[in-house]
Amino acid sequence: MREKAGRTMSVEGSKNGSSRWIDRQGGCQCGAIRYRLKRAPLTLYACHCRSCQKQSSSAFGISMRMERLAVEFSGAMPRIWRTSGDSGTPKLCAFCAECGTRLYHTGEKPDDPLTIKGGSLDDASDLEPICHLWMKRSQRWTKPLLDRDGGFESEPENDEILLRLWQEKMDSDSVSHSDCAGEE
Ligand SMILES: [Zn+2]
Ligand SMILES: [Zn+2]
Repeated sequence: MREKAGRTMSVEGSKNGSSRWIDRQGGCQCGAIRYRLKRAPLTLYACHCRSCQKQSSSAFGISMRMERLAVEFSGAMPRIWRTSGDSGTPKLCAFCAECGTRLYHTGEKPDDPLTIKGGSLDDASDLEPICHLWMKRSQRWTKPLLDRDGGFESEPENDEILLRLWQEKMDSDSVSHSDCAGEE
């Protein structure tokens, strides 16, 4: 099921690793809700499932997973829309009541991570998802991107893979090659 595709990444200067994430800011479109990152993300991937296409009204969602305490919010309180994932797990979707920007998803437990919508960063120009999920639901025009980066036809069987791939990427300052689909 899993597709494997090698890729080449160009690395500019030494702005890799975790330091470039600290103090980065973001927020909703109208500015009522703001946030600041205190640590690097746990992982960062693109998801092409229908639900991410719907919520983003676009081709895919960019999921930047953060430890809850690693994000400091200010301004207005987000509104929460409750839904559930495929497995029936409750999902809390936070958005700005004023402008409607979806800002993050999380679970019900107090220590559940936040999946921040990556495009809400003030500067999202350097985001580089480690791979793509739900490639079988992708919009056809994104194929060159999927072929380049690789990923999973649906979801990885093990969530740890996403964390590990991201950590490997962060650990290497001068990576010339990365393999999204693991070592098999
Ligand atoms: Zn807003
Ligand atoms: Zn998705």
